[in-house]
Amino acid sequence: MNHENKLYCSIAMGGWAEIGHTGEPSKSPNVNGDVYPCCPGWLKDDTNPAGYDFGNIYKDKWEDVWNGERAQEFRKSILDGSFKYCNENLCPHLQNVHSKPNVGSIESAPVVRKMKDIELLYEERGEQHRDIIEKQLTELSLAPDVVKMDYDRSCNLSCPSCREDLITPRGKEFELIEKIQNSVIKVIQEGTRKLYITGTGDPFGSATLRKFLLNFKKKDFPSVKTIRLHTNGVKWTKEIWNKMTDLHGLVTDAEVSIDAATKETYVKVRRGGDWDQLMENLKFIPSEVPWFGMSMVVQDTNYKEIPQLIKLRDKLVKESGNKSIYVYFSKITNWGTFTDEEYEKKAVWKESHPNYSDLVRILNENVKKSYWQDRFMGTNMTDLLRD
Ligand code: SF4
Ligand code: SF4
Repeated sequence: MNHENKLYCSIAMGGWAEIGHTGEPSKSPNVNGDVYPCCPGWLKDDTNPAGYDFGNIYKDKWEDVWNGERAQEFRKSILDGSFKYCNENLCPHLQNVHSKPNVGSIESAPVVRKMKDIELLYEERGEQHRDIIEKQLTELSLAPDVVKMDYDRSCNLSCPSCREDLITPRGKEFELIEKIQNSVIKVIQEGTRKLYITGTGDPFGSATLRKFLLNFKKKDFPSVKTIRLHTNGVKWTKEIWNKMTDLHGLVTDAEVSIDAATKETYVKVRRGGDWDQLMENLKFIPSEVPWFGMSMVVQDTNYKEIPQLIKLRDKLVKESGNKSIYVYFSKITNWGTFTDEEYEKKAVWKESHPNYSDLVRILNENVKKSYWQDRFMGTNMTDLLRD
């Protein structure tokens, strides 16, 4: 590969720390404080089926994790352009490399750029990357730009696509989560800019994360400029939000995984959810969060409601006055909660599914590849879209 086409990933080079994920999300709380440079599912490592980890925040010293041998070996694989621990079939950033300048905020800027476009990346993701490339640095500042808090699987729901039963850690498991959180807080205080809460459970349904949000004071985290909440939205009530005043204005980005556009379907796909309460919450959340989204894990039970979810999005835009509301449709994945046979029935995006052509028709009537920027609509089913 010539130098011009060599790739560089800004997330890999100090941009991201994902803490707690083990890659075994089917049953127990499964938290252990392992640290990954991005989503473990996008990484590959012969010695760890969960993905390439840097070490453990709970067992090891942070400097030995973040700048240890494994972290430096990983960063070398980015700087030499081999990306040998990255799975290009699964990493969306590797599938979205282009030369166009970013039109939105830092959050929408491409994560991976070719060396010929590297000046754009410096502009979008920060001048520290110039230093990293010029000096070929593998030892970095101790503060990851973004910390993704994935060390707790607790949730108030038990969606069949995600887990078999409610997960509510108690006793020793709960204590471990609290200890991991205390270690994570110290890392954030080194100078992290953004928090992402959470990819494994629910920020309001988890006792540990809820406590963190309720106690959050800006003065204790002066470097934190923005927070993304990823939630099912049921427990994000006006009452609890009014108790989280230091978060107002700081939560600039939120996604509610709604998975349905009618109560009837909602109760099937979001086991334990409360549709009426969620609709009540959606009356105020979109006007509190500048970049707000609703997502759907598309499956046999809900794919017909794709157009209705888009209509719900349009209704929320009108009611809240917030034009930056998006919808996102993703393929259902088998996290080990379905047998192979059950999964084949759910996975309507597979060509072998009897409703596949109906899904393709509905998607193409409602979503276009180009919609992500101008119509606030996206999907990872672009292979099913005609344009
Ligand atoms: S898998 Fe993707 S996001 Fe992760 S380090 Fe590699 S290129 Fe970057
Ligand atoms: S709301 Fe999200 S985290 Fe909770 S059970 Fe459902 S899919 Fe899993």
